[in-house]
Amino acid sequence: MSRVSPNVHWELGAVTRAQREERNQHPALVVWLTGLSASGKSTIATGLEQRLFADGVNVARLDGDNVRHGLCGDLGFSHEDRTENIRRVAEVAALLHELGHVAICAFISPYRSDRELARSLVPPDRFIEVYVKCALSVCEERDPKGLYRRAHAGEIRGFTGVDDAYEEPLDPELVVDTATLDATRAVQAVYETVAARLGAKASAQARAAD
Ligand code: ADP
Repeated sequence: MSRVSPNVHWELGAVTRAQREERNQHPALVVWLTGLSASGKSTIATGLEQRLFADGVNVARLDGDNVRHGLCGDLGFSHEDRTENIRRVAEVAALLHELGHVAICAFISPYRSDRELARSLVPPDRFIEVYVKCALSVCEERDPKGLYRRAHAGEIRGFTGVDDAYEEPLDPELVVDTATLDATRAVQAVYETVAARLGAKASAQARAAD
């Protein structure tokens, strides 16, 4: 499928990503959190955003539940709609990257091919895939929104981990197991990986916090 109308051209603009990165004193990045519902993606994304913001990093956060209110409000949870949901979000993340931001994305994003598409939209060293790993039984016990209970009762169909697949990442940059790490430690683990990629600015703050 061709997505580009033949009369549409990319407008380069007069301010480059490199100039934005130089002023920000850090490279742009996409940090992609994937995992089961209730594995801890939103909790970690929020904590990470707070830490990076405090460091003066140009940070933005995209969250699964939030985008479904607007940008992806027309989409459901069929395989096709989930893929379209991630495609749109991946494109937004790539635009944020182009504008010099560290874009934190917290989405179940259950299908490997969709995550690979997100990765392909930015240069290879600008994508950090974090597998927020958590045993299904622990997620079901947490069930902060009662969704697993409703899925088991048949009130929700096609729920990831219950009656729809979650394809584990094969080679993520980082795995955090939230069944064994508490939320503070999980945020710290992701923060350290991101700070190492951001270079001097954030990593100096990371050392100061030790
Ligand atoms: P998701 O965004 O993956 O659906 P949430 O972050 O919304 O997950 O919810 C995860 C739930 O698990 C929250 O109630 C959170 O407080 C709890 N939790 C327990 N341990 C952890 C941990 N180590 N990391 C993140 N969340 C945790």
